Amino acid sequence: MPIGRVLLTQAQIRKRVRELGHSLNRHYRGQQPIIIGVMNGALFFLADLLRAIDLGDAEISCLRLASYAGKKRTGQIRGLDALDQSVAGRPVLIVDDILDTGQTLVALVKRLKKLGASEIKTCVLLEKRRPRKVSHKPDWVGFRIANEFVVGYGLDYNSRYRTLRQIRVL
Ligand code: 5GP
Ligand code: MG
Repeated sequence: MPIGRVLLTQAQIRKRVRELGHSLNRHYRGQQPIIIGVMNGALFFLADLLRAIDLGDAEISCLRLASYAGKKRTGQIRGLDALDQSVAGRPVLIVDDILDTGQTLVALVKRLKKLGASEIKTCVLLEKRRPRKVSHKPDWVGFRIANEFVVGYGLDYNSRYRTLRQIRVL
């Protein structure tokens, strides 16, 4: 699979992450959210975002969720069982790489509600412009992109291209 054009440069990503950080700082001032990063895709985004926010003693937790095998969706989200009662009564911020069908975030938000989180917000670096069966409106979005498969900055294709510094179309 040949790698395609650069969609977002390192500089564009850096600038936008900083802006998101400012916005998150304003929303969470005086609160201590649990920040849940959805691995592995959100690895770079989460790390950069955490450097752009200043929330005192925020708690970080990583969850490994998977719905893809290669470029194909498998239709079920694996990994939600790792969540436990520790979110009860706490604000939770979910950080994910990309919102595509919305399946992943809808399932995760549903589970967190069930576990009693006091507030659930979502922050995604990318949102694909496409029709969705299940609807989820993220609270913070880095970039809205066309409905193409992208890699880099944490996003992979069968475990490849994750470490690219830019985001590229596959
Ligand atoms: P959703 O459940 O919203 O359909 O998909 C979410 C997950 O699928 C994302 O967190 C991401 O891991 C993966 N995904 C969706 N679109 C893409 C894409 O264009 N490129 C890559 N590498 N992963 C994607
Ligand atoms: Mg993901």
